[in-house]
Amino acid sequence: MAAHTVYKEPAPIMDRENPLESMMSRFNIAAEILGLDDETYNVLKAPDKQVIVNLPVTMDDGKLRVFEGYRVIHNTILGPSKGGIRYDKHVHIDEVKALAAWMTWKCAVVDIPYGGAKGGIICDPTTMSPGELERLTRAYTLALKDVFGPDRDIPAPDMGTGPREMAWLMDEFSKTVGATSPAVVTGKPLVMGGSLGRTEATGRGVMVSTLAALKKLNLKPTDVSAAVQGFGNVGSWAAKLLFDKGLKIKAVSDISGAYWNADGINIDEAIAYKNAHNGRLEGFTGATTMDADDLLTSDVDVLVPAAVEDVITEHNARDIKAKLIVEGANGPTSASADPIINEKGILVVPDILANSGGVTVSYFEWVQNRQGFKWTEEMVTERADRIMNDAFEKVYQTSQKYKIPMRIAAYVVSIDKVAQTYKFRGGF
Ligand code: GLU
Repeated sequence: MAAHTVYKEPAPIMDRENPLESMMSRFNIAAEILGLDDETYNVLKAPDKQVIVNLPVTMDDGKLRVFEGYRVIHNTILGPSKGGIRYDKHVHIDEVKALAAWMTWKCAVVDIPYGGAKGGIICDPTTMSPGELERLTRAYTLALKDVFGPDRDIPAPDMGTGPREMAWLMDEFSKTVGATSPAVVTGKPLVMGGSLGRTEATGRGVMVSTLAALKKLNLKPTDVSAAVQGFGNVGSWAAKLLFDKGLKIKAVSDISGAYWNADGINIDEAIAYKNAHNGRLEGFTGATTMDADDLLTSDVDVLVPAAVEDVITEHNARDIKAKLIVEGANGPTSASADPIINEKGILVVPDILANSGGVTVSYFEWVQNRQGFKWTEEMVTERADRIMNDAFEKVYQTSQKYKIPMRIAAYVVSIDKVAQTYKFRGGF
């Protein structure tokens, strides 16, 4: 399986809103609503642990290059920390810190027994050979062997990584501890302890939460059009599953550009085209090309940003026509856009809820590895769908109760669970 593709290169952090500040501003609003005590607030506002590692790798030309890698453990009060590893040339410690905190909130919102973490390496995986990427992944694993562990910290794929990297990580960690340790990482290839349904899990969760939201809006899926930004693992699966439910997918985009068809794009054909053309939609004839930025403000009912952070900002939020935004990516909406979106009355299913299907099935993978028992695909999807629907309903009810947007409601649900656990565990 290929590594996740990305819609476009994320901009360097100084060229956009700082995701850590975006995360904190929402956290602050939710903490205020909950009346969170100062002690718990101060514990939660900073990560438990931040590890920076130097990774020397012999490149194919024989020269040594040293890469910088991170692993940030935001919180472990609910269980071992969980979260992906990102390979990208603009990885920044503040971004990893935000993503790690989002993992804490995400796991709490779907009520799975994990804390939150995230990792990253500053590198450009698109220009590196498989051998270089393998040496880099093994160096990272070795450097973090005392951080990772099935009961401590469990990595997974994120942007720029996929089952291949998880296999190397599992192998290196297993050699280090002297025992095969499949539960140290999720998102592995199926043949070596991966779970059925993991590849499509995030996109499936996006589909399930879209349908749940449409029901609240009294809209029938077959009457609804959508645009999906990003055609990597999350976006292509979300588009495919929404297409199967009868939504008209008028626009999709990937790193090569955006594609529009007012009559609806045949997503099966788009995926077949992508698979036959190096993972890209470039040259796809089932749609006409459109400006990539116009996709976000195109004339559709549902917008699914499933690519990178900070694409919906104060600069374009006013022009969004969709009634519903379902966030497949982590942090696609900057905090500065929130008031504009709320004022326009757009319903947002926030990232920490909408894309939590991925970590939910990661949890199932870990459970299966520990049980030594493989579940059927039906067991995986039925349980994952139930978790997504329950979490959606809980967040929706919380938003009604406090008269707050679903984004803040999701933080309220998560922070409340974490804060309650601190009360029971005590120990400050
Ligand atoms: N990287 C994914 C996320 O952001 C998956 C994390 C996991 O499965 O641990 O949710």
